[in-house]
Amino acid sequence: MDKWKWYERPMLLSAVQCNYGENSYDIMKNHVVANGFNGEQLLHLNATGHVSSYDEDRDGEKLGKYLEEAGRNGLREILYWNVHCVYGETILDNPGWKQKTRSGDDIIVYGNQYLICINTPWRERYIENLKRLCSHRLDGLFLDGPLFMQNGCYCDFCKARFREAYKKELEEATFGEFLEFRTDSVTSMIRQTYEIKQSLNPDIRLYINNSALRADVTGSNTSKVYPYVDFLGTEGGFCWINKSFDYTHTTTHAKYIETKANGKPYIIFIAGDAKPYSYCMHTGAETERLYALSLAQGANIWYGIHGPTKMMQSEAGRVVAKMNRFIKENEIFLINTRSHAKIALMWSDATANFYASSVMQSDFTQSQKIGGEGKYGNHHEALAGFADMLTRCHAQYDIADQDCIYDRRIFDYDLLIFPTYACMSQEEAKIIREFVAGGGNIIATYDTGMYDETGRLRDIGVIDDIMGVRRGRIVRYEDVGVGYAKLHENIEENIVPMSGCAWETEPVGGAITTASAFYPMPGRYVAFPTEEFGYITDNRYGKGRCIFVSGTIGEVYNKWCGPDARKWLHRRILETADVLTETNAPQGIEISLRTQLHTGSRLIHVVNMTRGPGRPMEETVQVRDVMVGLTDFRGTRARGIYSGRELTIEPQGTGCRILLPVIDEYEVILVEREDV
Ligand SMILES: [Zn+2]
Repeated sequence: MDKWKWYERPMLLSAVQCNYGENSYDIMKNHVVANGFNGEQLLHLNATGHVSSYDEDRDGEKLGKYLEEAGRNGLREILYWNVHCVYGETILDNPGWKQKTRSGDDIIVYGNQYLICINTPWRERYIENLKRLCSHRLDGLFLDGPLFMQNGCYCDFCKARFREAYKKELEEATFGEFLEFRTDSVTSMIRQTYEIKQSLNPDIRLYINNSALRADVTGSNTSKVYPYVDFLGTEGGFCWINKSFDYTHTTTHAKYIETKANGKPYIIFIAGDAKPYSYCMHTGAETERLYALSLAQGANIWYGIHGPTKMMQSEAGRVVAKMNRFIKENEIFLINTRSHAKIALMWSDATANFYASSVMQSDFTQSQKIGGEGKYGNHHEALAGFADMLTRCHAQYDIADQDCIYDRRIFDYDLLIFPTYACMSQEEAKIIREFVAGGGNIIATYDTGMYDETGRLRDIGVIDDIMGVRRGRIVRYEDVGVGYAKLHENIEENIVPMSGCAWETEPVGGAITTASAFYPMPGRYVAFPTEEFGYITDNRYGKGRCIFVSGTIGEVYNKWCGPDARKWLHRRILETADVLTETNAPQGIEISLRTQLHTGSRLIHVVNMTRGPGRPMEETVQVRDVMVGLTDFRGTRARGIYSGRELTIEPQGTGCRILLPVIDEYEVILVEREDV
């Protein structure tokens, strides 16, 4: 294990996110070490309540001593530094640091703190302390923020900076310019931090809380800051669970951040507390799943609590200690793995920013939909719908984005799915055309390609030619239960529900219509409609295949959960991609396949999400007699390293199948190669 650097082995980072009088050395001994973490994101040492920043004169000596003790305990220490807000006392001395709204009001966060602006003189104070911090033997630095609220910032410094860059007033900025100004400000601050630490102490690994699967509402853009961070991390385990918010959030965020990391270490932030209640923990069963779903995508673990360490005297606390022990004892198997999925579900930053997309609730974002005037699709809802369907089908998939088109990583996949990927540039379209011509397959829905990368509506979709469609009008289903579609397939249930909205389409250039939709009925209890229009089109283009669904199938599935949409998708992906696994497992079993790069072994993560009605998840529903097959890998030995069970493995076709007599909460199956 010695050849791996500390951040190439599984990171288990403890984060105690406040301090109201606990002794920091007690936290280290009784929580960090006792619960089996191997590192810490250190907030509690310099904290006032929940806020922690760094001031060398105030904190330097204290930090030096703490790092020595951490070193004796074999812990890696990453300093937490809040670079977005301060309490009122600090603002009294530095009123010029405040972030301002357009009307000149101060921006308050968490109910009692002031948001600071990184373009004010706050920045000089920060840089001075950062340089002095680099003299310490730290392992890493985590910046919480930098960010803007959606209504900021219009301080005098931002106004002057904008005027210089854009030769006009900030109040006259277009939506796109305002967005760009904010993301450029955040990126320049992270870049400056990176360059300073690289020149003074490159052993310090820098990372931030990356924005994932949402519009750039906070000014932080993951692609822009990528060159200046050593790790990537995102809040996949901060779960505001309610009836409409499920744990699938963790899987989609982990998949997205793995692709964005592109070889760099990546971390899922798990809040031990069930958001938004900082002083109440998740149940043990929920905690185990949050860990398992993160590990299943190869992520490192950050586990934070936002109250006193006595909250760990709970089922959640006991599960954390158990999971940390499991990871440490098996790190030789969990290290250096990657997904080799052949299906990519595509995300577009431009669509989130300039078309319409939901933003989920977090500490900095309200649950809301960005954009949307005259636009009936919703990129995030569509992506979430497809992610749920793919997971239920047990198909192996990644979440990729526009950068994977530009850098041509899409050519590694059999199938790309574009869920209302509305904003697409000419350049993206050109590369997608080449992908399909060479034998790649795509499924695209609704407004995909109808807008350019700045959100301008086109007359003709930029990839309509390869999809073989001519669009007519948009048909809207104002109510549910008044629309149906007819699949032209020889299956029993070929009449399926239809809602949301859809383009009337006609096939062109040899394409065929494989499903029609009926126009909305005047009510639910009337005769079945007869007038129909083209809904799904199938086209051959070069050596590839393009399937176009003209309606908002992903968005509708995400809300109404119709099983027909999932069954339809399952048939299409079996025709167009290698799904890598075969199984008889029920849909509540989430399966993720990973390859260990240096040994060639396969790891099959099996997460049992089977549960009663939604949250709370308090118990494990055991699942029995599950077979998991690998279509392209002939293994000779299969071991369940979570349960410690030796498993039956048999050859099947070009691959093999493994039999699991029982699945409790979680299992990780290590499948060794034939020649090992
Ligand atoms: Zn400002």
